Amino acid sequence: MNKLIRIKDFSYLIKINKNIIVDTWLENQIVKDIFLAHQLSLKIEQKKVFIDIFESIMGSMQWELSISDSSTTDKFLNILNESSFSTNDFFTLFTSLKNSIILFFNIEGLLSFKLLKDIENNFLEITKELFIKYEQMNNLEPIPTVDNTNLLNEYKKAVDLSTIVSKTNPKGIITYVNDKFCEISGFKREELIGKPHNIVRHPSMSSNTFQELWSTIKNKKTWNGLITNLKSDGRSYVVNSTVVPILDVDGDIVEFIAIRNDVTDFEQAKEQLSNLNKAMKHKVDELYSMAQTLEQQASIDVLTGVFNRMKFEEFFEFEMQKAKIQRTKLSIILLDIDNFKNINDNFGHDIGDEILKSITKLISLNIRATDTISRWGGEEFAILLPGTYLEKAILVANNIKQIINDHDFSLTPSKTTCSFGVATLNDMDSKESLFKRVDNALYKAKNIGKNIVVGEDELDKDF
Ligand code: GH3
Ligand code: MG
Ligand code: MG
Repeated sequence: MNKLIRIKDFSYLIKINKNIIVDTWLENQIVKDIFLAHQLSLKIEQKKVFIDIFESIMGSMQWELSISDSSTTDKFLNILNESSFSTNDFFTLFTSLKNSIILFFNIEGLLSFKLLKDIENNFLEITKELFIKYEQMNNLEPIPTVDNTNLLNEYKKAVDLSTIVSKTNPKGIITYVNDKFCEISGFKREELIGKPHNIVRHPSMSSNTFQELWSTIKNKKTWNGLITNLKSDGRSYVVNSTVVPILDVDGDIVEFIAIRNDVTDFEQAKEQLSNLNKAMKHKVDELYSMAQTLEQQASIDVLTGVFNRMKFEEFFEFEMQKAKIQRTKLSIILLDIDNFKNINDNFGHDIGDEILKSITKLISLNIRATDTISRWGGEEFAILLPGTYLEKAILVANNIKQIINDHDFSLTPSKTTCSFGVATLNDMDSKESLFKRVDNALYKAKNIGKNIVVGEDELDKDF
């Protein structure tokens, strides 16, 4: 949360945190680049120098020291002499130090609009004053510096070998291009100089990107992003671009420098990878749905379309656990078509199949949605009835028995009937013991004379 703090408290906070701020500053890529360009190493002594500069700035910011206070400016001038910074470097360094302070206050949650303005204004004032002094001194006597010309030339050579560099005026008219720019774009230097930079703009680029780029750099900030550019032969190339506004002493934009690296191969590889990923995801989806189909095929009886015995036993295990935990009843009906062998023998196997399908349909239509029918094997079916006690399950079985008995299958001249066994899970039961009882009940129904329902409570009864 932002809060307003007094400039004195602010100075104090910065003073005690100066190491962190200078560290942040020295980690800044722009600062590092400038250090590299001037072969300034970030040694401990170097850091100490910057902490000194920083302290001087802070001293002046307390407004107790006048800006032209000689001790402050002298320190700066010494550093400037030693390091032979250019005008641009000087401003870039101070802008980045300013940004570090802003960042620091933002992290601390202390940044307010007023504070931001104070920092902005003070820095500009300080840098302006110092710059004037610096220029004056420059005019009076040449600054004795280490000759960095060679180093800078080498540095430029290294940059030109690897990087596309161009400069434009504030209106975006190209004023400078290096060889790499010409080599990659295929344009000759004379075709580029004096033209608007959008001469290399590829038609696939959205105007949003350029609007964002322009609004950033016109606000005196650095822009970075990927741009697809046009070659003279109409092909495209992708560049990772950094566009830096260069300011004069008054803080006005004098030109823009763009530094670009050709990342076409990298972007293409990225796209290929993303396509591969998509294709792989598609394959995985396909495999997943294949696996689902296979699983379904493994659970369903092909002839009748109801669950097979394996799946039924899986359902049963689940319902048995549920019934035991919730203390609810679970019944099972086992039924077997009577004299089915005769049907096959007399009317053919196809008719037998049709009867199996018709009976499955009849049963499915006459059980609840929560009940499960499965083909137990051959001409035997099992029905699982969760939440159903024995007497109720016997009623259900009798109802089905009657419906099959009354049904006109129109396939055989004789009636088709079924025999039924019914049992209900008890506390002592395992899957095997319950299945054994229901099987015994069905066996008894067959023995009694078929087309009958026998509940497990009638196992000992004489008929
Ligand atoms: P019961 O009344 O004692 O059950 O006598 P059943 O003739 O029905 O019993 P049995 O076990 O002797 O005969 C079952 C027959 O079911 C034998 C087998 O050929 C037939 N069968 C099993 N599966 C199929 C199938 O998918 N289609 C056809 N059409 N017949 C089948
Ligand atoms: Mg049988
Ligand atoms: Mg049978």
